Parts: sequence; C-alpha cells; structure tokens
Amino acid sequence: MHSLLIQNGRVIDPANNVDGIRDVLIVDGKIADIGSKTRPGKMDTFDARGKVVCPGLIDIHVHLREPGRSDKETIESGTRAAARGGFTTVVCMPNTTPPVDQAGTVEYIKARARESGVVNVLPTGAITVGLKGEQMAEIGSLKRAGVVAITDDGHCVQNNEIMRRAVEYAKMFDLPVMDHCQDYALSADGVINEGYWSMTLGLRGWPAIAEEIIVSRNCLLAELADWKVHMQHLSSAGSVRILKEARQRGVKVSGEVCPHHIALTDECVKGYDTNFKMNPPLRTRRDVDALLQGIADGTIEILASDHAPHCSFEKEVEFDDAPFGILGLETEVGLFLTELVHKKVIPLQKLIAMYTINPAKLLGLDRGTLSVDAPGDVTILDPDHEWTVDRDQSASLSRNTPFHGWNLKGKAVATIVGGKKVL
Ligand SMILES: [Zn+2]
Repeated sequence: MHSLLIQNGRVIDPANNVDGIRDVLIVDGKIADIGSKTRPGKMDTFDARGKVVCPGLIDIHVHLREPGRSDKETIESGTRAAARGGFTTVVCMPNTTPPVDQAGTVEYIKARARESGVVNVLPTGAITVGLKGEQMAEIGSLKRAGVVAITDDGHCVQNNEIMRRAVEYAKMFDLPVMDHCQDYALSADGVINEGYWSMTLGLRGWPAIAEEIIVSRNCLLAELADWKVHMQHLSSAGSVRILKEARQRGVKVSGEVCPHHIALTDECVKGYDTNFKMNPPLRTRRDVDALLQGIADGTIEILASDHAPHCSFEKEVEFDDAPFGILGLETEVGLFLTELVHKKVIPLQKLIAMYTINPAKLLGLDRGTLSVDAPGDVTILDPDHEWTVDRDQSASLSRNTPFHGWNLKGKAVATIVGGKKVL
C-alpha cells in the first residue's frame, strides 16, 4: 500500500466548494481523505505550505502526434511536457497518421500511453473516416474502444447533413462532439486574421466569420439533437456572442479558449514570425476583449492549450508555407494565471474549475475533483512564482512557441498522477 500525504497547502476543489488549508491523503492511487487528522502509519509526505493544492488539471485539447509524427512529439515527450505544465490528464486529438477513425488506433494509443505516458491520456475519435468529412466513422466501435469524445480537429465537417447525423449518433453513444469551427469556403487559404494586418502585411485573410458561421451551425444542430457540442479554440467576438445566446436558451453547447488567443493579437504577426501562425488565427484587440468577457461571465467555461508541436524545419519557412500551431502545455498555466488571475479577470478558484471539474463534466469523467475515492490526481501550484519561458528547457520534442523569453507569474510546482509524483 502506497500513501502520500500533501500537508499544509491551500486546497481549492471547486467541485466540492472547498477553499482552505487542509491536508490531502492519497492511498493506493485514490483520494482517501481531506482534512482529517487520523493517519495511516508509514507514508510519504509533501509539504505544500504556501502553495495551492487542487485536483489534477485536465487539458482537453492536445496533439501528441503519435502515431505517425514522432519527430514532432511522442506520447512520452508530450505527457512529460504535460506533467511539467501541471497536467495530470490530457485529451489527445485524432489527426494523427493514421487518424483515429477506428478502434485499432484507439487501442494503439492506449497501449503506448500505458507503456510510455507519464500522465493520463484520453483519446478522442474522428467524426468522419480519414477526417475527410465525407463518411461517418464507426462511432459505436470508437466508443467501445475508449474514446471520450469525437472531433475532426484540424479539420471541420463541412457537410451539414453529415454533421447533423454525427451529433445524433454521438448522443446515442453518450459521446460529446467537439468541433474545430472553420468554414473552408470562407477561410479559403487564409493564414492570418482578415483585417488591417492582413492587408498591411500582404498575407491572405482567414476571416472571423468563417469560424462564427460554424459556431452558429453547431448551436442549431446541438439544439435540434438536444446534445453536447463543444466548440474548440474559439477566437472571435462573434463566436462568444452566438455561444452566449445559445447557452442562455439552454442549448448544450460549450466553448474553450486557448492562451494565445487572449495573450496575443494579429498585430504580433508583423515580423512574419511563423510562431504566431495558428488556426484559428490571432484576432484583434476587440476579439480578445470579448473572449475575456466571455471567460468572466461564464460563457466560456473551459481552458485548453491546443498544444501543436511542429519541427523547426517545418516552421522556419515563408509564413504562407508554415504549418499552423504552437506548443502550449508548459506555458498555458503561467499565461492564464498571468492574464486572467493576476489581471483580475477571474478569481483563482474559477480558473481551477475551468481546468478541472468543467472539462470533467463535459466528458463525463470521474476526475477533476478531490472527492474521496476519486483518482489520486493532484496539481500543486505556486500562483506567485515568477519565471521566464525558455523553449530550450522544454520537455517537448518541438520548439515552436511565440512565448520564448516571456516573464510569467504562476507555475505548477508538482504534478501527482494516481498518488505518484511525476513532476
Ligand atoms: Zn483545431
């Protein structure tokens, strides 16, 4: 029997309305007790005095690149980066090679995660075969193999009839649908937000409406099927407005925001640095303000990274030719603590809920709380720790971050998965 006692920390567990100095006891990989003073005999201890102890953080939007592109990232390197960032669970996207559109690939990822992962890895399955948007994947067999949601992330199902049936089938299998919202006709081959900076820099525009029109479509389909559709990496003011209206009417829709979409704007692209190229693209100050407002008023209830590693040789090309996406796992907690908590957009308790119980509820996980018998996943944060991002210290195999050299306030100091310290 292995026991770990985390002592003297400020325990914040939004699911149970806990915020106070407590001890947390983990026995045999499960939360055994919070606060009481009766202790088993022999145990390891961790002194969390002056730190925040919370349920293990969950990132529901991560690209681990395995199978297929283990030069960019592997399940091992990606989960090490997750542990450094304070994450005990990551939800990985299905746009691997091959894509996760059948049970065998789900099994492969689960096996690799057992062998080499340092944190929990929960796979998602594709909505359509080959992520091509043409023919629905076998959602029932993906569910039986263990996916926690379906998404064509990296792609977006353009055919509304296929998307309608996917939402209806997903409901039958109790699987949430997550969507990368992008209308291809409208975004065309855009590489930067359509607006002043696309004109000034002579780069092709990816207009906000290409996202918003799919957010609207998804709200309508979620309402029709009375089922959960989660909008991934929202970037625009219009998306927040549409989502808010649907949620107010009780439609089962939710949204997530990534750190780069609130910490940066499209003006950052002016040096043509491809580390500022992501999909959806960085938007304007007005969009950033709307995202912050949506986070503050609860329209957006989940935070995620869209951790998207790419090799340097791929990113070090002309802006038009570079792949979309940046690293996220090791910087997101620091960025969100800096931008949201220290700038008083939301309190710390709410940030923790957005990384724990809220994603757990969306996906129907038994995680994201410190309830007795929940998995012994705990993150210990120092919200005031000041540090400088150094991409060369990253656990990821890739180096594509626009935040190299940034000074952040707040960091995970320990990550505990199933009672074992992995950071
Ligand atoms: Zn995406």
